[in-house]
Amino acid sequence: MNHYAITMPQLSDTMTEGVLVTWEKQAGDKVERGDIVATVETDKAIMDVEVFKAGYLAGPLAEIGATVPVSGALGYITDTAGDVAIAAGEVVAEQAQTEMIPHHAGTPIVMPQLSDTMHEGVVVTWEKQPGDVIKRGDIVATVETDKAIMDVEVFQEGFLSGPIADVGSVVEVGHPMGFIVSDASKVNDTGVTLGADHKVSDTHKVAPHAADRPAHIPTPKASPSQISATGNMPPVPRPQGRQASPYARKVAAQLGVNLTGLAGTGPSGVIVAADVARARPSMQQVAHSLPQVDVPGQGRAMSSMEKAVSHAMTASLTLPTFNVTVNINTATLTAAAKAKKVSVTVAIAKACSVAMAKFPRMNWAYQPVDKLVERANHDFGVAVMSNDGGLVVPILHGIEKRSTDALQSDWTGLVERARVRKLAPSEYANPTFTISNMGMLGVSHFTAIPTPGISAILAISANGPQGTPFTITGDHRVLNGADVALYLVALKQTIEAPEAWLNAEGGAVAASVTAPATTSAPAVSPIPEGAAPIPEGNWDFPVVIIGGGPGGEDCARDLADHGIKVMMVNNEPFPGGECLWRGCIPSKAWRAAADVIRNRPHDAEMGVDGTNTPKLNWAQAEKHRRWVQSSRGEMALKADKGMKIDVREGYGEFVDAHTLKITPVEGEPYQLTFGAAVIATGAPAFVPPIPGARENLATGGVVTSDTIWNLANPPKKLGIVGGGVIGVEMAQIFRDFGTEVLMLERHDRILAEIEEEIGKVLIASLEKEITVVTGADIKEASGKPGAMKLRYANKEGVESTFDCDIVLMATGKRPDTGKLNLDKAGVELDGAAIKVNTRGQTSAPHIYAVGDVIGGYMLAHTAATQGRVAADNLLGHASEYDQDKDCGVTFSRPQAGFVGLSVAQAKAKGIDAVEAKMPMSIDAKAMITGETEGMIKLVADKATGRIIGVHYLADHTDTLIGIGVMMVAGEMTLTQVAKAIFPHPTQTELFGELARRLLNRLRRTAKK
Ligand SMILES: Cc1cc2nc3c(=O)[nH]c(=O)nc-3n(C[C@H](O)[C@H](O)[C@H](O)COP(=O)(O)OP(=O)(O)OC[C@H]3O[C@@H](n4cnc5c(N)ncnc54)[C@H](O)[C@@H]3O)c2cc1C
Repeated sequence: MNHYAITMPQLSDTMTEGVLVTWEKQAGDKVERGDIVATVETDKAIMDVEVFKAGYLAGPLAEIGATVPVSGALGYITDTAGDVAIAAGEVVAEQAQTEMIPHHAGTPIVMPQLSDTMHEGVVVTWEKQPGDVIKRGDIVATVETDKAIMDVEVFQEGFLSGPIADVGSVVEVGHPMGFIVSDASKVNDTGVTLGADHKVSDTHKVAPHAADRPAHIPTPKASPSQISATGNMPPVPRPQGRQASPYARKVAAQLGVNLTGLAGTGPSGVIVAADVARARPSMQQVAHSLPQVDVPGQGRAMSSMEKAVSHAMTASLTLPTFNVTVNINTATLTAAAKAKKVSVTVAIAKACSVAMAKFPRMNWAYQPVDKLVERANHDFGVAVMSNDGGLVVPILHGIEKRSTDALQSDWTGLVERARVRKLAPSEYANPTFTISNMGMLGVSHFTAIPTPGISAILAISANGPQGTPFTITGDHRVLNGADVALYLVALKQTIEAPEAWLNAEGGAVAASVTAPATTSAPAVSPIPEGAAPIPEGNWDFPVVIIGGGPGGEDCARDLADHGIKVMMVNNEPFPGGECLWRGCIPSKAWRAAADVIRNRPHDAEMGVDGTNTPKLNWAQAEKHRRWVQSSRGEMALKADKGMKIDVREGYGEFVDAHTLKITPVEGEPYQLTFGAAVIATGAPAFVPPIPGARENLATGGVVTSDTIWNLANPPKKLGIVGGGVIGVEMAQIFRDFGTEVLMLERHDRILAEIEEEIGKVLIASLEKEITVVTGADIKEASGKPGAMKLRYANKEGVESTFDCDIVLMATGKRPDTGKLNLDKAGVELDGAAIKVNTRGQTSAPHIYAVGDVIGGYMLAHTAATQGRVAADNLLGHASEYDQDKDCGVTFSRPQAGFVGLSVAQAKAKGIDAVEAKMPMSIDAKAMITGETEGMIKLVADKATGRIIGVHYLADHTDTLIGIGVMMVAGEMTLTQVAKAIFPHPTQTELFGELARRLLNRLRRTAKK
């Protein structure tokens, strides 16, 4: 018995791994030499995997979407029929040679399968003619599926070659419509076409040139989503006296198929998974199994779309349905929607979702046999009339978590595409609830028919004397009458009192204040009724702010901008906080000097000599840094005062819930009263109790990020304790300044907070220039400035001492609220940080806290955003901080950066996320400038195509990240980014490329 591994082929110098996009064969299938068994996405394109070994495909097969390293096994070929998986530990004889097509003989352009229900398509137009040059991504034709007219995109370069299918001809899924040949001389442009009535089998009657005949024409098969056996369901028992593959038995268990009496098409009649899938009746079969009535007359064939509707409607006869109607007054919602500039359709869809939060069952579905699919995602189909009179049902995705503004923006595009029936499959497949508004056409009452896959459809009729009839037709296997009645009552309340949920999102109805971008997307909870944002009273100040860093200052400015009398107390002479005086700004001034030093040696590669021996002028670098800081500090103070913020220097602490005591630098402490307060006091560097660490802070032998700014000269040798972002930034800066650096980290990995793959690559790069010891047990920091000893034991317990000039404790930051007397104001802590809700409200509802003092991402823009969110709420405008849209840059070389979520973070939140990545080494601009280290990753929600994360390891991440921020904050979809025009040659082109790549993969995966 021999087994051979099908391995991930290497297709370019830069390719180290690939993503499995589809399996073209299933475990147990017979495989011939030259068969395409799978498609994989490399760092350049999606390619087919062709095998050169005959046998049977066997698992374990790599999962679709899995990243497999070059030469890693994707699956196996075995010479034994009936084996669907080789056993663990079985010997693999050798690698089965794999190769990528394009076939040299020519490749078929096949009718794509664009939905589960699609079996065939009609050729509507040819966008290219035989002989035309074809580029990757070209649209060569359009086809009409059962749902819409779609583009046929090709992913191979070459020349279009005949025979091509006639316009108007019906081609079955997976069968050729035309061909691509690599050489102009091989083009068949004799004008031979496939006739309008020809189906698949007829295709072969019109033989292409022998040389161009494709080596392999994929045949349609049951989609893996139908026959993939997931979950832990035990397989059904073997049928008596028959053989069935273990996989087939598992699939049978999942689909509820009885194997007795089932015909097997595997070797020697073995029942394989495809037989089981076939045994499950399709919608079409159900339709045709019903008694048919003779109808006189000459019938014409239905179009694909007419057929699909006919089958779906007949299949819906299997649904035991009932109707419930409630009359609703829609006048207030209509006016509110108009004021908010959203369509009434979108507002009603949102209302349906809001009401459904309490009645999640409305969103479930019956699944054969005897199962319920409990869905949390509100993806509602809304019926639209297409220009040719047909009915199209585009889907508004993620209604439960998105604002009406965001939904409106989707809806506008969806309606446009629906009218011309040009929707992508993800835009019409698998709604969870459906709405049909025939009221627009003036009908006084109607009911709608739900199709299998949903449990309820809402029919909205025209407004009458008693209001607008809202009728739900429900599937009794999922819902009972009371469920629907209660839901409709809740919907009535939701629609008739829209201010409770529509206003809470912000925008025109709520107030004249526009919510910050970061808070626009999620639905937000309204401010509790009766609780004024700034408590009324005869206060010295309606609002006081404690702390003048990014969090406090942005909050104060927003409030002052709205005419609120604000006092901001800061225990430093100038605003700016840690960011300006001890953090972002000074560290990036050093980084800028270090960048110049680091970049110069590469000038020679560009052909510029004489600049490769840069020398640090410390005094000048420090002068420049201080100039930036003092200029910005003065600018900030001037701006604050100009905006009429009452800025005071001093230390603030609570006396009670409405009184603050201020201790100024000079003069006596005094008290003042306030209506509301915002705590923005930051988090100083934290020094753990390592012997000698805290003691030597006073001498300067040990420094932190608070005190490193007083160095007379860069140290010759620097010991750094802590491998977080601040430690890594400092390590590289001083390395560039010529310092020898040892970094000690207690945990097994440095940069633990950075996305795993980005972190790994960055760490490998860092370890080339600095010594990093992980798993270190730091024993002591002793000595005096210029002669410090850092004693530690490595993972194995071996002790060493590093002699250095100074030790930097980069061991994190921790809020220190001990002297604020929070208990007197009723403000509670969560560990060291102040406990807040997403609006920044503490346990004392009139006191907010923002920035580093509340923990989470300790970043300047995070603090500033939270400051603006607090201001918004104080202004009576509900607003929330959304960490899932936040971002950050590590100013290492190359720079690491994140926006939104990683795949792991998204999955932890239950989002089915996928990513595509591209190495910088394939980007033209990066090659020109010699900045090829790193990668960019795009993370998208598979269900909606929405971009939910962007991750970077690249030079210029600090600029490139702005694009990721706009994509994630703006909830852009892969399609939108794929269509955006990025200038060439710039690294920004990678974003379009990544989006197209991921879309392509998703499209191809969805087709299977
Ligand atoms: C070395 C280093 C590099 C960094 N680099 C970056 C970066 O590149 N990008 C980034 O986004 N972030 C960076 N940060 C983090 C950033 O500095 C902080 O996240 C940000 O400053 C936090 O803002 P904040 O308003 O919460 O607090 P802070 O900026 O700390 O401001 C708090 C202010 O309140 C004052 N204060 C405290 N208690 C009282 C009191 N009781 N009464 C009156 N005043 C009080 C403090 O003196 C201070 O002025 C860096 C930090 C460090 C240490």
